[in-house]
Amino acid sequence: MKVAIIGAGISGITACKESVACGLLPTVFEQHEGYGGNWNPKSGKTWNSIRSNISKYTFMYSDFPYSFLKQGEDFATTNDIYRYLGEYIKEFQIEKYFRFQSIVLKACYKDEKWNITYRYIKTGQEHQMKFDFLIVASGVFDRPLPYEGIIEGVDLEKFKESGGKVIHSLYYKDSEEFRGKRVLVVGNGNSGCDIVTDLIRQPNTEVYHYFRRNYWICGRYIPNGNKERVPLDWVFYSRLKQDASLKRSETEKNLATNSFFEKISPLQLDIESIRIPKDQYNTFIPLTICDGYLENLRDNKFKVERNPQALINSNQIDIIIFCNGFSCSLDFLDSDTQKRLQFQSDSYQTMILYKECIPPLDMKGLAFVGVFRGTYTTVLELQARMVTMMLSGQIPYPSQETMTTNLNAELDIRYAIPRKLFPHPDYVNFADSIARVIQCLPDFEKLKETDPELYNRLYNLPHNCSCYRLVGPHSKPKLAEMLLNQFLNDVDSRK
Ligand SMILES: Cc1cc2nc3c(=O)[nH]c(=O)nc-3n(C[C@H](O)[C@H](O)[C@H](O)COP(=O)(O)OP(=O)(O)OC[C@H]3O[C@@H](n4cnc5c(N)ncnc54)[C@H](O)[C@@H]3O)c2cc1C
Repeated sequence: MKVAIIGAGISGITACKESVACGLLPTVFEQHEGYGGNWNPKSGKTWNSIRSNISKYTFMYSDFPYSFLKQGEDFATTNDIYRYLGEYIKEFQIEKYFRFQSIVLKACYKDEKWNITYRYIKTGQEHQMKFDFLIVASGVFDRPLPYEGIIEGVDLEKFKESGGKVIHSLYYKDSEEFRGKRVLVVGNGNSGCDIVTDLIRQPNTEVYHYFRRNYWICGRYIPNGNKERVPLDWVFYSRLKQDASLKRSETEKNLATNSFFEKISPLQLDIESIRIPKDQYNTFIPLTICDGYLENLRDNKFKVERNPQALINSNQIDIIIFCNGFSCSLDFLDSDTQKRLQFQSDSYQTMILYKECIPPLDMKGLAFVGVFRGTYTTVLELQARMVTMMLSGQIPYPSQETMTTNLNAELDIRYAIPRKLFPHPDYVNFADSIARVIQCLPDFEKLKETDPELYNRLYNLPHNCSCYRLVGPHSKPKLAEMLLNQFLNDVDSRK
C-alpha cells in the first residue's frame, strides 16, 4: 500500500520511517531542496544563533540519540538538529523515499485513491501520482500572521515611504545585517526575545522591545531544588508533576505555576518594566524561554519601549521586526475537506482531530502528523507511529463513540476562555494517551509491584521518550533501557 507524505521536517521524516516499519511504501514530497523543515539551515525558519529551547533528551526520537553531542551539550543548534535528522535518515535507510523540490499543489480523494498533483520546481513541470493513503506533515508555521495595526497609531506604509524597513521574524537570519541600526522588535514570545538578545551582540545597534503584556522569562537552565541548574524540561516534565497538576483547578494551577516561575526567575522581580504583579498570579501567564534576556535588560543593553509610536513617527527607528507568529496553510486540500476538518489557519489548534492527527472516521485514508501547536518531537513520533499503524491495519481505528468524545473534547479546547496557547499543555499526559492507543505504554500499576525501581524511574523522574520503546509493537527494549540509563545517569551526575 502506498502512502504520500507531505513535508520532510521532523514530522515527515518520522512518518516515513514508521510507514516503512508498518510495511507501507512511502513517498515524501518536500518543496525545498533537502530535509529538516524549520531546521534546515538554508530553507528553514530558524536563524543562525538559535538553539532548541528544550534539551536534546526531549528533542529526540525514542530510538535514536544524538551521537555527537557530549554530556553537558544539552541544547542543540540548527546545524546539530539538521545533522541529527540526516543521521536518522541514514540509519533507517529511508533516503530513497524523499522527493525534494516537489511542491504538492493539490491532494484530492477520488475513486478510493489520493491523487497528488505536484510541481517539480527544477523543471516547473506538474506531475500526478496516486496513493492509498495521505499523511500531511507540512507543519504549522507557514506564513507570517498579518502585523498591520499591531502598533496602534503607526502607519507602516508611511514608515516605509520615509525609508524605514519592516520585516517578519520569518526573514530574520543573522544580527550582522542590523549592525549600527536602530531596531524595534515587536512581540515577546520565544522568537521576539531571542532576536532581541541576538541583536544586542552587534556593536552600535540600538534595540527597543515592544510588547503589550508581560510574560515570564527564564533561561534554558533553571534551579532544581538545591541542585545545580539543569535543563528546564527535566524539571517541567515528569508523570508525577503532571498528575499533581491535573488534580488542580485552573486557578490553583495558575497560582502554583506563577509562584514556581517567580522562583526560577527571581531577577524578573527586580526589573520594574517587566515585573508581574502578584494579583495576576491567579491568571494564566505565558512563559518565554530565553537566555540572557533579563540580565541584558537589567544592564540596559536594550530598552523595553511601551509607546514606540513617537520613536517610529519621528524617524528614530530604522527597522521594525515583527515576531507575531505564523499561520498554517493547507491550500492543497480543497475547501470542502478543509471545512470537514474544521480547519482554522491560526496555528494554535488547526483542526478538530482525534489526538490532533486522525480526522472523523468517514475520512479514512487521511492523517496528520505535527499539524498542531506544541509539536514536541516525542508527540510527533507517537502520532507518526499511531497513524501508520492505523493506516496499515496493525491497530484498529477508534470506535465512533470514542471518536465523538475525543472530537468534542477538542472543540472544548478550541473554544475555552481564556484561549489556550497550546491545545495540550499537559505534554506528558498527552504523549501517554497516544502511547496507550499504540499499546506501547508500560503498565505502571503492574510495574509498581514487579519492578519498583523501573517504576520510580518512569513515574517520578524526568520524562524521556525512550520509555515508549520498552514494550509493545515496534519496541526495542534493550536500546530503550540503554537510552533511559544514559539519560538518568546524566540527570544523576548533575545533582
Ligand atoms: C523560529 C522557530 C523556532 C522553533 N524552536 C523550537 C524549539 O526550540 N523547540 C521545539 O520543540 N520546537 C521549536 N519550533 C517548532 C518547530 O515547528 C518544530 O520543532 C518542528 O520543526 C516541527 O516539525 P514539522 O516537521 O512538523 O514541521 P516543519 O519543520 O515546518 O516541516 C514541514 C515541511 O513541510 C514542507 N511543506 C509544506 N507544505 C508543502 C507542500 N505543499 N509541498 C511540499 N512540501 C511542503 C515544508 O517545506 C517543510 O519542510 C520552532 C519553530 C520556529 C518557527
